[in-house]
Amino acid sequence: MQLYSTKNKKNLVSLKKAVMKGLPDDNGLFMPENIRPLPDHFFEELSNMSFVEIAQAVVSHLIGDDIPSQALNKLVAEAFNFPVPLVQLDDKTSVLELFHGPSLAFKDFGARFMARLMGYFNQAEKDQLIILVATSGDTGGAVASGFYQTPGIEVVILYPSGKVSPLQEKQLTTLGHNITALEVDGTFDDCQAIVKQAFLDKELNQQLRLSSANSINIARLIPQSLYYFEAFKQLQIAGNTLPVVFSVPSGNFGNLTAGILAKKMGLPIEHMIAATNSNDIVPKYLKTGQYEPKVSVRTISNAMDVGNPSNFARLKDLYKKEQCNTCDMMGKDIKGYAFDDTQTRKAVKEVDSKFKYIIDPHGAVGYLALKEYQEEYPETTGVILETAHPSKFIEDVEDILDKKIEVPIRLAKLANEPKSSIKLSTSYSDFKDWIEGFSF
Ligand SMILES: *Cc1c(COP(=O)(O)O)cnc(C)c1O
Repeated sequence: MQLYSTKNKKNLVSLKKAVMKGLPDDNGLFMPENIRPLPDHFFEELSNMSFVEIAQAVVSHLIGDDIPSQALNKLVAEAFNFPVPLVQLDDKTSVLELFHGPSLAFKDFGARFMARLMGYFNQAEKDQLIILVATSGDTGGAVASGFYQTPGIEVVILYPSGKVSPLQEKQLTTLGHNITALEVDGTFDDCQAIVKQAFLDKELNQQLRLSSANSINIARLIPQSLYYFEAFKQLQIAGNTLPVVFSVPSGNFGNLTAGILAKKMGLPIEHMIAATNSNDIVPKYLKTGQYEPKVSVRTISNAMDVGNPSNFARLKDLYKKEQCNTCDMMGKDIKGYAFDDTQTRKAVKEVDSKFKYIIDPHGAVGYLALKEYQEEYPETTGVILETAHPSKFIEDVEDILDKKIEVPIRLAKLANEPKSSIKLSTSYSDFKDWIEGFSF
């Protein structure tokens, strides 16, 4: 598999290079050079395949022989060792539950796959690889558990002290082994600034092999295309004959971009629905053709509070090849809708009272977008991606529903685990002293 930078199509790199580097030097994003449709026999056999079998077939189709198939199949089976159920709400509405992994959010798919891919590519190296991540909450938990005990890889997570939820903090600070949490006396932006400076620090990079687990790494995008096939399969088994659409609660638009990859690999997706909260940059773009990034506003679906979605460059790139206007072409595949917190709260309530299903605020935005879409396109079956378990946002969900909700055991038991973090100031030199002195 070869990948190019969205800023320079001629500069091709191998999968290994793209995964280990994360970002091209020209500040673009890596994209697969060829996204070919899967063979007909894949679709004929789809309904008899398990999720792991689907994942193995799609991944090996996409990345070719960069990794021997036996090693690749093993890596995929280990990454996706949890179920991906599709729950039917009514005959035109289903919820794809993407929260059955260890951190209870869909980011487990990307993080677990990326960790194993990096571990594989790192095997031949004698020095440890140190992954630096700044997190405002969710990403850190998925990365920590994804890389936990990966041989040859150490993870250093920087998070803003007092600014992540107690359970999110426990997800970062209780694993130990190769996971180290740095509790920074500042904001998420301060954490991000330290990580950025570390990558630019030539002296530090001569001493240590540093890499990132950034959300724009192509290794996180590829696995997110897999569950679109799984949902389609489960609808097929349930006897669905209507055109299928996916409603994707979106922030940085990684998930939605991965759905477009699935479509390019031949999955018959009628439309992708870009569902956002008040951070409505992309729905606005789809309506007006103007891309206007903004400072993000806070909402109750906070993992989608993004004012300048990082994967938009990939979406633009995917639609650039066509001869006409990018936004027209994108608009043929993607329909965008945005909703505020008042609407989101009402939707959480409605889904509970109508379907006896507890949806989280992110999924609720997806639900609203699907309903609005289906007013125009009623003869469709919609799949809402439920990107996180409602208990991850327990305060808001219990407040909206005015009742207690169940917390899965794997999250609940974290509350009793002892926290272990290293406190740091926001100064880069403090960070540098620490990392130079730390024995990995
Ligand atoms: C990260 C996240 C999103 C947004 O996903 P993107 O791929 O960035 O669009 C939505 N919901 C939850 C719960 C998330 O953690």
